[in-house]
Amino acid sequence: MSERDEIARALLGHAKSLRAAGVQYVSLAARPSRPSAAAVIPVSAPPAAAPALYPPGTEVPPLVKESPPPQASTRPQASTRPQAPPAAAQPGLLPMMDAPQSSLLAAAARRTAGFAPPPLPFDPGAEMTLEEVARAVEGCLRCKLGAGRTNLVFGVGNPAAKLVFVGEAPGADEDAQGIPFVGRAGQMLTKMIENVIEVPRGEVYICNILKCRPPGNRNPEPDEIACCEPYLMKQLAAIRPRLIVALGKFAAQWLLRTKTPIGKLRGKFGRYQGIPCLATYHPAYLLRNPNDKRLVLDDLRKVKAVYSGEKEPEIEVFG
Ligand code: URA
Repeated sequence: MSERDEIARALLGHAKSLRAAGVQYVSLAARPSRPSAAAVIPVSAPPAAAPALYPPGTEVPPLVKESPPPQASTRPQASTRPQAPPAAAQPGLLPMMDAPQSSLLAAAARRTAGFAPPPLPFDPGAEMTLEEVARAVEGCLRCKLGAGRTNLVFGVGNPAAKLVFVGEAPGADEDAQGIPFVGRAGQMLTKMIENVIEVPRGEVYICNILKCRPPGNRNPEPDEIACCEPYLMKQLAAIRPRLIVALGKFAAQWLLRTKTPIGKLRGKFGRYQGIPCLATYHPAYLLRNPNDKRLVLDDLRKVKAVYSGEKEPEIEVFG
């Protein structure tokens, strides 16, 4: 048998054993340059047991406006983003949660039964800074959206933000610039943040469920969410916000672990990993339905009251 035949036979045997072990997809993407082989962990690896960020019964530290925020970044490149101070240096914060959030990953696995996402570019149990997460995911081709993107849209803003906005997925402008919420909907969001909550956009952090643009701005598909959600989990675990605003159905249902329609969730707080999270309409929806803008303005006034420490959030959604 020639050497080539031997290699082919060995590969076939390996593929059969992977198949027998339940592996359905094997990534052909080049391995990202930084993580070591040991850091590339299949998503099906048993998640490390980890405490929730703010487990039930513990309090999320109050939101009180403090000294000026660290310098905000307006560019998405990991290398330009300022680093969050280490958790231990932030007084009042509880011990760092580890991101794997095994129940969330298990729920994702159930939602996409039969779909095995390719390996993650990081160890889901590892504690990572925002910059490390950004660097790990920058060449991502885990789902079908990666091949069609111009830029991966990781997120933008203050890496130590107390307030995080989560949208759905980049649109054409975001794909072109690599920055979330820079198109018409983004301009509306910026105005709302700055005029209603009265904080500069750079003081908060803004990201999406999906990091790559779905073609024609269609809705995210379950396999895409399954591939991308570990990135959002890691982002939120690195930022450790005190308050989250979910923009639109996809963000609200994902963060609050519910299938309740956005019309019923809107204006209500639930929790993501112990962190208060308010659901509201997506700014793109408001561009089509300007009469509902007043509802979102009311919602953001609630966010402002909690953000400023004036009020406690009233939790009404239990996903
Ligand atoms: N819509 C989103 O959900 N996210 C963006 O970044 C832009 C538009």
